[in-house]
Amino acid sequence: MHNRIALITGVTGQDGAYLCQLLLNKGYVVHGVVRRSSHAGVFDHRLKWLGINDDVILHDGNLLDLSSLARIVQEVRPDEVYNLAAQSFVTASWQQPLLTGQITGLGAVNLLECVRTLKPDARYYQASSSEMFGLIQEQVQSESTPFYPRSPYGVAKLYAHWMTINYRESFKLHASNGILFNHESPLRGVEFVTRKVTDGVARIKLGLAKELRLGNIDAKRDWGHAKDYTRAMWMMLQQDKPDDFVIATGRTTTVRDMCEIAFRHVGLVSQDHLIIDEKLFRPAEVEVLLGNPAKAEAAFGWKAEISLETMIQEMVEADLKRLGSKS
Ligand code: GDP
Repeated sequence: MHNRIALITGVTGQDGAYLCQLLLNKGYVVHGVVRRSSHAGVFDHRLKWLGINDDVILHDGNLLDLSSLARIVQEVRPDEVYNLAAQSFVTASWQQPLLTGQITGLGAVNLLECVRTLKPDARYYQASSSEMFGLIQEQVQSESTPFYPRSPYGVAKLYAHWMTINYRESFKLHASNGILFNHESPLRGVEFVTRKVTDGVARIKLGLAKELRLGNIDAKRDWGHAKDYTRAMWMMLQQDKPDDFVIATGRTTTVRDMCEIAFRHVGLVSQDHLIIDEKLFRPAEVEVLLGNPAKAEAAFGWKAEISLETMIQEMVEADLKRLGSKS
């Protein structure tokens, strides 16, 4: 039997990096798709951070370019395909709604088409998102909760979600959606609120900044660790039957309280440094998200293992180290 072969889009992102690490540890041959030109020099910094940049085989390609994906799928012949690539920052999706739709929505279908026509026995993972619940229709969101996306990003993800189901039902692809709630780590981009906070707190602690500007700190999120969540992606594809699963911790926390955890870790008080900036409020907000991961636990025993406190502390420590070594 050959080593199993995985192909990951979005391999240079947070989840791509942790998924690569997991799959390499399991003996997979791991291939990744990169938009190399747009990231010249720093495109693989997350893979470097994990010390695996030399172990992943990278291919130049783009979700918008069907021909590039077809060439890569034909060459790699993957057993498992993970579609993690997206324009994934909600705020940017109002500034570039069409591009977000093309990459996050139609891009997934380009990849599904390649799998369907060139490697139909490959297992396919689609990175669906809790942002699809948006204006929540139930207090606790599960696989059966109706969707109500509140941003171009959420709408684009919903299209990809339903196309994944459609390809599963129409063409019998082994295609699954992981409806992942917010998941963070030291590798999260600084545009997202947890990392913005841990980076900001580390700057204040080191005397590099005095204040931290945030938008709506009353928003609540169900935050987990990307390491736990990428494990769920892999587990999903090991099931005999493809299906859709909510991946969440089952606990929701305000941005305000998450901030407090970060400040407290370095012996500071958030009120002394936090400034609310109206410009950072969104045209439409997702006020609260809280997921019920019971289906994933029942089907394959998945549970979040890393708490919000442990994760925020790990992120603050990583930012202190990163900034400390620069100054
Ligand atoms: P999202 O849930 O995918 O949009 O993840 P984010 O980390 O970008 O945002 C989580 C929540 O934090 C949202 O409700 C934002 O409105 C809120 N938030 C408050 N201040 C900020 C900020 O300065 N930056 C970001 N990214 N989010 C903020």
